[in-house]
Amino acid sequence: MKSLWNQKEAEQCENELDLRVYSSRLLGQDKTLVLHGGGNTSVKINEKNILGEDESILYVKGSGWDLEFIERPGFSPVRMEHLLKLAELKVLSDSQMVNELKTHMVQASAPTPSVEAILHAILPYKYVDHTHADAVVTITNSNDGLQRIKDIYGDKVVILPYCMPGFDLSRLCADEFRKQVTDKTLGMVLMNHGIFSFAGTAKESYERMISLVDMAEDYIKQQKAWNLLQVNHEVDEHVSKHLEIARLRKDISDRAEKPMIVHFNAGIKYLDYIHRENIGDISQQGPATPDHVIRTKRLPMLGRDVDNYIEDYKQYFKKHATGRKQAVAMLDPTPRVIIDHEFGIGAVGATAKDAAIVADIYDHTVDIILRATALSEYKALPASDIFDVEYWELEQAKLKKSGAGPVFSGEVAMVTGAASGIGLACVESLLARGAAVVGLDIDNKVESLFQRADYLGLTCDVSIQQHIVQALDKGIRRFGGLDMLVLNAGIFPKSRNISELSNEFWREVMQINLDANLMIMREAYPLLKLAPKGGRVVMMGSKNVPAPGPGAAAYSVSKAGITQLARIAALEWGADNIRINTLHPDAVFDTAIWTDEVLNARAESYGLTVDEYKRKNILKTEVSSHDVAELAAEMCGPLFSKTTGAQLPVDGGNDRVI
Ligand code: ZN
Repeated sequence: MKSLWNQKEAEQCENELDLRVYSSRLLGQDKTLVLHGGGNTSVKINEKNILGEDESILYVKGSGWDLEFIERPGFSPVRMEHLLKLAELKVLSDSQMVNELKTHMVQASAPTPSVEAILHAILPYKYVDHTHADAVVTITNSNDGLQRIKDIYGDKVVILPYCMPGFDLSRLCADEFRKQVTDKTLGMVLMNHGIFSFAGTAKESYERMISLVDMAEDYIKQQKAWNLLQVNHEVDEHVSKHLEIARLRKDISDRAEKPMIVHFNAGIKYLDYIHRENIGDISQQGPATPDHVIRTKRLPMLGRDVDNYIEDYKQYFKKHATGRKQAVAMLDPTPRVIIDHEFGIGAVGATAKDAAIVADIYDHTVDIILRATALSEYKALPASDIFDVEYWELEQAKLKKSGAGPVFSGEVAMVTGAASGIGLACVESLLARGAAVVGLDIDNKVESLFQRADYLGLTCDVSIQQHIVQALDKGIRRFGGLDMLVLNAGIFPKSRNISELSNEFWREVMQINLDANLMIMREAYPLLKLAPKGGRVVMMGSKNVPAPGPGAAAYSVSKAGITQLARIAALEWGADNIRINTLHPDAVFDTAIWTDEVLNARAESYGLTVDEYKRKNILKTEVSSHDVAELAAEMCGPLFSKTTGAQLPVDGGNDRVI
């Protein structure tokens, strides 16, 4: 563990709250301390209210904020006086507690305060930091965890047994803290949950966290339980597994009743974990900290039997839900983590971002499980404790906030020719509708177009069969399946009359504009068949199909060829619930081929200004890449759900086409 504190940066902070923001972000940057919204921090500040009276205010992390990116408005200001009175109550329900926290803030628009607000208030220090540090949960989740914590820290920390977060934990802390605190106390360990540090300054509280976690890491290293890679398992990259993965994703999506993203990773660390003899035991204990359950579920699925997993989940639900004061409805029973000998470790989510969060959490869980096993034995909390958190109304609220999601949530699209022009615009339109997108292009700039969990850019020559198969394989490993395909890649060759048209020129145009699309369609077909909501294909045709021009024989014939290909595919694939439609764009000038020079020359040859030339259509309107892309995306959506084999112009109206 290294302190990231930078005195120069810290000196830029204007006040105590800014310092709180600064050191919270330092904690958030270290993924071994907190992951995706985990952990919380606070500072107690004396302020004058509008009446000029002095008030002590607890600024505590608001729900929905991530420590890594938190800003001033991410801290909810709650009156200390009221919090301390609440801490004296014998009982307080979750909803009562949230109500009290919300109604005793001094800023009406602030986010809902963390459910640990009362706990932060009780701790008599200006700055309080809380993380779920991997090293600490590794030790507290191992056999003899309590004794090990005592050995490591002595009287440096107060130790609390596991308790459900919220009011009960605050009560427990109020009692135990008073009993155990000494002038040597630097922090507090919560068994099977995490660690607190606290101090009079932001720097000291942060650096105490670092040094306390460092002690835990040193202990694990001393016990020779830190570096654990055993065997380097090779996966045969040449064997394409994408169809089997897509089938598994279909099973999960069908049972979840919505399309899901499934992200597989077969890195060395994961294969080593999966192939351990005791994997059936160590992977089936439970999460490292109860907070993770809402993302990962209690247990990963071993293998591919989704029905069996669901059956077990129902049993678990039935066992723990009966006899509760408040009735709870069962959540979607499908797995969020998959452990598969061939595919690697799978992370499942309603969106690519959710799946990436699951993958991150499980990545840390693997380290924790293996290190705790090396110490002695990995022991998670009993299922009943995990269930309490999984079905805790306050945790469920975190997930509900995300809502139903956009139209293509959980779906996967592939776009060819994605690096620029209409292809790039299609990527943007599909991402905007919630799809995860695989962009293919011969230009390697496609790889770095977007840095986000729901985009994968792959350099790919679509006229080479092997490139297509590899791209599908990578796309499926990343997102789990293929629901939509936008066939946009193509070349627009120089004008040439038939009398001067060489065989080579003709072949080249056909190979890229026609043959390549046949290959992709053939390879993608079995995957599109497994699309949970049915497969959809959009073919990028051209105005030249209904209204060809002289000098464009090769181009027009290739585009007419793919149009016919699409019509026949519509006939052949309808029974598989795959729709395919063709767009005929014209005069889309915001693409790479239309440089200012070319535009000026063309406009001049018609005796028009560039602007007049661009609007040379019946509606006198300009057609942009974005216009074409929006229509392509809509053709994959519910609006066109009853349409297949159709051809639609997007050209501002052309009298020859009409
Ligand atoms: Zn916590």
